[in-house]
Amino acid sequence: MVHFVGAGCGAADLITLRGKALLEAADLVIYAGSLVNPELLRYTKESCEVFDSSKMTLEEVIAELARAESCGLTSVRLHTGDPSIYGAIREQMDALDRLGIGYDVCPGVSSFCGAAAALKAEYTLPAVSQTVILTRMEGRTAVPERESIESLAAHGATMVLFLSASMTGELSRRLIAGGYSAETPAAIVYKATWEDEKVCRCTVGTLEETAKANGITKTALITVGGFLGNEYELSKLYDAGFSTEFREAKT
Ligand code: SAH
Repeated sequence: MVHFVGAGCGAADLITLRGKALLEAADLVIYAGSLVNPELLRYTKESCEVFDSSKMTLEEVIAELARAESCGLTSVRLHTGDPSIYGAIREQMDALDRLGIGYDVCPGVSSFCGAAAALKAEYTLPAVSQTVILTRMEGRTAVPERESIESLAAHGATMVLFLSASMTGELSRRLIAGGYSAETPAAIVYKATWEDEKVCRCTVGTLEETAKANGITKTALITVGGFLGNEYELSKLYDAGFSTEFREAKT
């Protein structure tokens, strides 16, 4: 059996109880060494074999998982944040399907949640935005044309950009071309929930100089939108004049 486990986005105690139990029971762990907190490996038992996937190809990862499976061992494939976001787990699951190896997935705290916590922000403020767009600039991985930064920016919704911290100049220009004003609030969150976390508040127009001034080129999210401002409406959920399934309105 193979368990894909979300490690959380930084602090070791952000892994789920289930994820920790799976790590404790694992005979083999393949972890994403580039971003997973190595402190998590302390949860593994002494006999556990540990591999760093940042130095491996897909074929090598699958070969190790298949070898463990043939010996009746339990494996954990430990991914940063939540495995469903830029985790490249689909290709691994499909390969395991072809080999007839069973697997399941344990979610984790994605960095976009860690970044919101670092910012002490709510992405979905009433009358500001009710939509969160998680996307990226294209790098060596292409982004479909219909998902260009310009076209997504046109919604004026909350945007969280992964894998784009080294391209803040171009990002800023394209966000503005899409419709955000240069004054729209933005923030760069570096290593959310790690000990060396850094939160840099700025605007869409000053993303590049802010990244440069703080020496940030990777392991950061760029968040954009009115949710970082001060204007919003109160929620209906806790409005005294609003009845819900659980509470009568106080008239
Ligand atoms: N599955 C991960 C994302 C992997 S893609 C998740 O759910 O978070 C890797 C990108 O995620 C990095 O380039 C960076 O943009 C972002 N990232 C990962 N961990 C981060 C953290 N602690 N703080 C800020 N950004 C992070």
